[in-house]
Amino acid sequence: MWIRQRPRSRATVTRASDVIVVGAGLVGAACGREFARNGCNVRIFDGKPPGNHTTAAGMGHIVVMDDSDAQMRLTQRGRVLLQGFVDSVPVTSAERIEAEPTGTLWIAEDSAGYEAARSKQAYYSRFGVVSEMLDERTLREVEPCLARGLVGALRVPDDFVIYAPAVVDALLDDARVHGAHVEQSRVRRISGRNVELEDGRTLDAAWVIDAAGEEAFDVLDAEARAALTHVRLRRRKGQLVITDRYPGFARHQLVELGYLASAHGDDRASVAFNLQPRATGQMLLGSSREFDATDATLDSRLLRQMIERATRFVPGIGALVALRAWAGFRVATDDHLPLVGPIEASHSRGLLLACGHEGLGITTSLSTARLLVDYVFDRADADFPIDPYLPTRRMHAAG
Ligand SMILES: Cc1cc2nc3c(=O)[nH]c(=O)nc-3n(C[C@H](O)[C@H](O)[C@H](O)COP(=O)(O)OP(=O)(O)OC[C@H]3O[C@@H](n4cnc5c(N)ncnc54)[C@H](O)[C@@H]3O)c2cc1C
Repeated sequence: MWIRQRPRSRATVTRASDVIVVGAGLVGAACGREFARNGCNVRIFDGKPPGNHTTAAGMGHIVVMDDSDAQMRLTQRGRVLLQGFVDSVPVTSAERIEAEPTGTLWIAEDSAGYEAARSKQAYYSRFGVVSEMLDERTLREVEPCLARGLVGALRVPDDFVIYAPAVVDALLDDARVHGAHVEQSRVRRISGRNVELEDGRTLDAAWVIDAAGEEAFDVLDAEARAALTHVRLRRRKGQLVITDRYPGFARHQLVELGYLASAHGDDRASVAFNLQPRATGQMLLGSSREFDATDATLDSRLLRQMIERATRFVPGIGALVALRAWAGFRVATDDHLPLVGPIEASHSRGLLLACGHEGLGITTSLSTARLLVDYVFDRADADFPIDPYLPTRRMHAAG
């Protein structure tokens, strides 16, 4: 095996592995598995049971998004890799993953929205992403729960839905098969290639991957943080509601086209209609976006707005029984692209970031892992360069 940099040996620390991954959410699990499959000796640490933080709070919509070429490539590649993985897992894992080939309907409320859907389709087709325009009549035929008067939609048939914590378990199972070691231990500090655990052990590796989600910057030492002053990670709270079982109520993941403005705008709080049919027959309703909210308490005013907005698109939704609502935190950068790759600090060579995936970290977990493995093994892929995601990039706030 040839890797880009050789490790330095240190007398005071235990040489643990080729790669240490900090965080076993979907992003960390995907990275650990990808390195293990590429012949590396991998250790993965999480302070909690794997997949129990933001990954467990998300929607699990595997969706190609077109905010920028870089986002398009990362989501498109992510969707393909995740579909391949889901298709390859043993039956018991597949049952837990609950993959549903729902596709996505991007719904247009008016003619301006329909034109936006057309532009979206043109953009998708440039990248080879299959999609089709549906007129009002066809829309009602394929999705009878929708309100009358919606002018049409763009259908993206290859998007799908999964239950993300089960994907984490399946990825870690596969990583273990390839020799990875997964341990529940909290990391106190990452200093370059050294990882100090809260139980007092210090380990080092040729490469350390910081996939600690919300805590990705907190766990870094002062030198690494100083190298990241041009970047900020902001928490963006999101609320979801899940209903009782209503099999067949909706067939597709339904998203209003205005969702894009909500997803990428910088308003302090916004809601957009997003409804997901789960394999269980439950309906998962999203979502809100709130910058700089600090606690996970549910905001009943925003929940009401979400339900009101959903009723506009799906009038029957008010009759469904809601079982539970919760909030989670997306971790966002100013340009809405994740931080993937090395940071600029000589001491921190060997440290790689994999964080800041905002509302797309489930979709882009495997493509993130692929970027890092290609970087470490120096396998340039001209169609999928790492540059737009590098933490060293200049940040321009996206509109
Ligand atoms: C409401 C909502 C809806 C969403 N919907 C979607 C969707 O439909 N599709 C999609 O693609 N994405 C969606 N997302 C985004 C997605 O959930 C996240 O981008 C993704 O889960 C991030 O994964 P992660 O592994 O980076 O973070 P996490 O899942 O938070 O994992 C980080 C892990 O690091 C561990 N950790 C932290 N600090 C330490 C430490 N010091 N030592 C050891 N371990 C540590 C944590 O315990 C945690 O397990 C949504 C998010 C939210 C909030």
